[in-house]
Amino acid sequence: MTNLQFLAKLKMFCVIVAVIAAVNLVNAQQNQNDLHPNRVFSKGFAVHSHEDQFHLYEFTRHGVGGNDIQIEILYAGICHSDLHAVWEEQKDFGIHSRYPMVPGHEIVGRVVKIGNNVTKFKIGDFAGVGCMVNACRMCGYCLVGKEQFCEKGTVFTYNSIDHYHEHEITMGGYSNNIVVSENFAINIPKNADLKKAAPLLCAGITTWSPIKFSNVKKGDKAGVAGYGGVGHMAAQYLVALGTEVTVFDTNEEKRNDAKRMGVKRYVNVRNPKELEGLNNTMDFIITTIPADYDPLIYVRMLKIGGEMAVVGLPPNSNINISKLPLGAANRKIYGSLIGGIKETQEMLDYSVANTIYPQVEIIKAEPSEIDKAYKNLKNGKMKFRYVIDMSTLK
Ligand code: NDP
Ligand code: ZN
Repeated sequence: MTNLQFLAKLKMFCVIVAVIAAVNLVNAQQNQNDLHPNRVFSKGFAVHSHEDQFHLYEFTRHGVGGNDIQIEILYAGICHSDLHAVWEEQKDFGIHSRYPMVPGHEIVGRVVKIGNNVTKFKIGDFAGVGCMVNACRMCGYCLVGKEQFCEKGTVFTYNSIDHYHEHEITMGGYSNNIVVSENFAINIPKNADLKKAAPLLCAGITTWSPIKFSNVKKGDKAGVAGYGGVGHMAAQYLVALGTEVTVFDTNEEKRNDAKRMGVKRYVNVRNPKELEGLNNTMDFIITTIPADYDPLIYVRMLKIGGEMAVVGLPPNSNINISKLPLGAANRKIYGSLIGGIKETQEMLDYSVANTIYPQVEIIKAEPSEIDKAYKNLKNGKMKFRYVIDMSTLK
C-alpha cells in the first residue's frame, strides 16, 4: 500500500468514527428524553459527599411549566455559602447538605424556552437567578416581597426540597441550564456586563437589602467587616450612597483595592493598633466574615442607636449575652438573609445603571478549576469573586 492509499484509508476511517460518535450522541440525548419525557436534561458539576471533589454530573430538571422559563446558563458565581454547603459547615444551624449536590446561586444566562403564560421574558432575553427558585407568593411575607421567609417554605436554588415539583432536590447553577418560575427570575438589561452580573444575584442583594433595611444615608459612617466577595459589594454600595466607609479584613493585599473602590479607611484586623480609636464611631456595620470571630469588637464600634447587620455565616462565633448591657447598650444587631425578588430587581437595575459590579476572576467550567477555586477561597488566596464561564462546559 502506498503512503497516499494509506492516508486515504485513514481519512475514511476517521470520517466513519466521527459519524458513529455523532449518531451515539444523538441517541444518548434521545434516550434521556425518552426516559424523562417532560424533564429537561442537564449536566453540571456535583460533589457526592462533603469530602468529595467536583465531578461532571448528568441529571434532569422538572420540565418547563406554563409560568416557567428555561435558561441556558452562561455564568455562575462561586459564593462562600457554596463552600459552607458542600463542606457541611452549617450542620449546627439545621442546614443539612444533600448529595449529590450541584451548588451555585449566582446565575446569569439566556432564556431559551418559555411557558405559555410567561409575560416577563421572551426567548433571547438575559435572565438571572439568585438563591431562591420558588415560594408560595401568597403568605404575609411573600406579599411584601420577602419571599426568602415564605411561611410555606422557600425553595432555595440548590440543596432544597422543591415541594412544588414532587419534592425533587433542587440543583444549582454550576450547570448548563436551569428551569425556574418567571416570578423568581430577574431581568438582566441587555447592556449589563454579564460575567460580572452573576454575583450580584447573591453578593449584591445580600448587602443591598440590609443597607436599605437600616436606612443608611449619605454622610453616615459605615463599616464592612470581611472584605471578600460579599463585603466588597457592600463597600461599593455604601461608597455610592455617600457614606464614609471603613473596611476590616485580614489580607494586606487588598489595601489598594479598597482605596480604588473609594473606601476611606482599611483596617487589617491582624494589626490590633489599627483597631484603636474606632469604638462608638459608626452608624452602620455589616459583617460578612465566614470564619469564627468576636462580634463584640464591631458592636462596640457602633454609636448609640447604630445598627449591625450580620450576614456572614461563621460556624461557631457566639455573642456572649452577658456582655451586651455594657458592650452593646442601645445598639441594634440583626441577621439578614439575601433579599426579596422585587428588591433584587431594584439592586440589579441600580448596579447596571451605575456600573457597580464585583471584581471577578473567570474560570473554566472544569472540575479541577472549581476544586482549586474552593481551596483558594478557603485559604484566603482569592481577593473577591470567582465566576465559572459555563459556556466552556464540555
Ligand atoms: P469570601 O471568602 O469571599 O469573603 C470573606 C472575607 O472575610 C475574606 O476577605 C476574608 O479574608 C475575610 N475574613 C476572614 N476572617 C476574617 C476576620 N476574622 N476578620 C475580618 N475579615 C475576615 O466570602 P463571601 O464574601 O462569599 O461570603 C461571606 C460570608 O457571607 C459567608 O459566610 C457566606 O456564607 C455568607 N453569606 C451570607 C448570605 C446571607 O444571606 N446571609 C448570602 C451570601 C453569603 P481572607 O480572604 O484574607 O481570609
Ligand atoms: Zn451566596
